[in-house]
Amino acid sequence: MADILRFADNLGPAKIIQVYEPSIDLKAVLVIDNIAMGPAIGGIRVAPDVSIEECLRLARTMTLKNAAAGLSHGGAKVVVYADPKMPKPEKERLIRALACALRNFHEYVMGPDMGTDEESMAWIKDEINCNVTGLPAEAGGIPLDQIGATAWGIRHAIEVAMPYCGFPAGFSLAKARVAIQGFGAVGKNAARFLAEQQAVLVGAADSRGSVYDPDGLDVNKLIRLKDAGKSVVDYPDGEKFDRDAIVDFDCDIWIPAARPDVVNEDNMHRLKAKLVVEGANIPLTEGAEKFLHDHGVLCIPDFIANSGGVICAAMEYRGKIESEALDIIEHKVKSNTRLVLEEARTKKILPREAAMNLAVTRVERAMSFKRWSIY
Ligand code: NAD
Repeated sequence: MADILRFADNLGPAKIIQVYEPSIDLKAVLVIDNIAMGPAIGGIRVAPDVSIEECLRLARTMTLKNAAAGLSHGGAKVVVYADPKMPKPEKERLIRALACALRNFHEYVMGPDMGTDEESMAWIKDEINCNVTGLPAEAGGIPLDQIGATAWGIRHAIEVAMPYCGFPAGFSLAKARVAIQGFGAVGKNAARFLAEQQAVLVGAADSRGSVYDPDGLDVNKLIRLKDAGKSVVDYPDGEKFDRDAIVDFDCDIWIPAARPDVVNEDNMHRLKAKLVVEGANIPLTEGAEKFLHDHGVLCIPDFIANSGGVICAAMEYRGKIESEALDIIEHKVKSNTRLVLEEARTKKILPREAAMNLAVTRVERAMSFKRWSIY
């Protein structure tokens, strides 16, 4: 008991639930962080190696993200301890069993995350017919990963952030060299949207390795490779490196779109970019973010930059259509990015501090209306 409670602070977590079904080897944890603002939305991650602490931090990120985006939702996260690349029938069995186990937690709305997708959400809908977002269009949803909802927000966050980065006068997205770590739903769609703005993708990494070409990689070719189940290291041109070498690539904008803590005290000195836009959740340690800030690198915090996905999920929950969701993402991410960067500049604080002030003030006000506080 004391062990679990060591994670508690004034915002949460409200509940930590273990889900276990030995007959099919289902092992999962649901963390409902804070539901003062409304039912918690948070993704289901399938991964073999996520600690409870990481799950709690990811749930907290969702509380802050929903609050910062002005959504009437709290934050939560599920981790299913399994190999995300397991055979589909096995994954379907696990996800359906998880849905059954969580069917009565009406304060939690499920969504996709690493290792799950629209199809997984459709299995959940079929199983329990409620409390799920991120559905395929054919099941009444807005397929947020397919349309690149999060990446759409990232593209707009970058546009707002560029004038704050100390790039030379006249420098624009059309000339910017971009490196992206993680080439899944977030990474590949970010590459696509940025290529549409004539940005040059010089580097990309996935779990198998990384590829670098200072003259630019062909984004469509890379996406086709990934969609065919291959890796960025199967790209025919460019130089190939190991997975973590992406931190060293010479570029202007670096987008982490994979796992937590990938830039940390060990490798933060190696990053070359002037702008880091956090597509992944908690991709930089606190120390790394501070170090980069002190060295003139602007980091747009995760819960501001990558809120497009949850905004899309919340819009789906309210019955909106795709074009409405994309407009709302653009508006919310742009205005929040601007707000946070202005506040950071005026008060001479880190963008994360400014973003925390914005989100925590909203959560605390919602908590003040309640008989209890966080639920
Ligand atoms: P995904 O499963 O579609 O893709 C993940 C990609 O990262 C894959 O290409 C995988 O090979 C690669 N990868 C995994 N470990 C890696 C490593 N150590 N180094 C380099 N690459 C690695 O996942 P996604 O939906 O694109 O999510 C990526 C990140 O963005 C996660 O942190 C997720 O929480 C966050 N995020 C996603 C969304 C969304 O809408 N999908 C929204 C907000 C935040």
